[in-house]
Amino acid sequence: TGTLMAGKRGLVMGVANDRSIAWGIARACAAQGAEVAFTYQGEALEKRVRPLADGIGSRHVLPCDVTDDASVDAAFRVLEDDWGGLDFLVHAIGFADKQYLRGRYLDTPRDAFLQALDISCYSFVSVAQRAVPLMKAGGSLLTMSYLGAERVTPHYNVMGVAKAALEASVRYLAADLGGQGIRVNAISAGPIKTLAASGIGDFRYILRWNQLNSPLKRNVSIEEVGGAGLYLLSDLGAGVTGEVHHVDSGYHIVGMKAVDAPDI
Ligand code: NAD
Repeated sequence: TGTLMAGKRGLVMGVANDRSIAWGIARACAAQGAEVAFTYQGEALEKRVRPLADGIGSRHVLPCDVTDDASVDAAFRVLEDDWGGLDFLVHAIGFADKQYLRGRYLDTPRDAFLQALDISCYSFVSVAQRAVPLMKAGGSLLTMSYLGAERVTPHYNVMGVAKAALEASVRYLAADLGGQGIRVNAISAGPIKTLAASGIGDFRYILRWNQLNSPLKRNVSIEEVGGAGLYLLSDLGAGVTGEVHHVDSGYHIVGMKAVDAPDI
């Protein structure tokens, strides 16, 4: 525990359970003194999120489906009424129909494309629109990406395209908001076994591949993503904006597997 985030208030969107990346980031911030509010999508997840939030003394656990503008407005209205301001926001939300997270990108239909881009990319813009007026003293926005935005990874397909748009959004938003002292960054995390990841084809193989071929020869944890999140959300990251920061055991630097690497 420490005081890096003392006096800061933040909203964490995207906790589904204690394996969620958003939970790793929330816990790291709370351990440094941040006051954290949570949103959850749907009643089934509320049962998971509420006890986690209680465990770190959170007073706000709010429903929010990012496809429904009224529900996003309602969540931010509570924060405005109760807090009157906001220092940071974590957007750890993504979705694509799992039917299209396998096979060929070529086969993506329009409705699945629009849904993936809406939930996984536009929602970050939408929540930024509502967070910015509350960030009167500056702030930090953080979203979550994956290497599939930059390079082809098997089965990631339409999510890769959505993450590419999300990473570009980070840069445009950073330029729009820098003058107000609001920073906008992404973490590009290596594969982690979460609810969302279970929808991706051959995910176990992807985990194993990264473990065997990354410089650190292991996968990353939500605690490690939490540490990087803390850096970007706190004043430690004060000079950093528009950045996509990899927390992936270094996998993104690898061009080819070493000759003496074990077979997979
Ligand atoms: P997760 O399943 O724990 O979290 C995904 C969250 O998205 C859930 O809380 C879900 O409720 C939320 N969500 C989906 N549709 C929503 C909607 N319409 N409205 C509101 N919330 C909605 O899985 P996770 O892996 O922790 O995912 C968090 C983020 O990290 C996602 O953006 C994901 O793409 C990204 N990411 C994950 C990995 C990985 O390997 N797990 C790697 C890199 C990036």
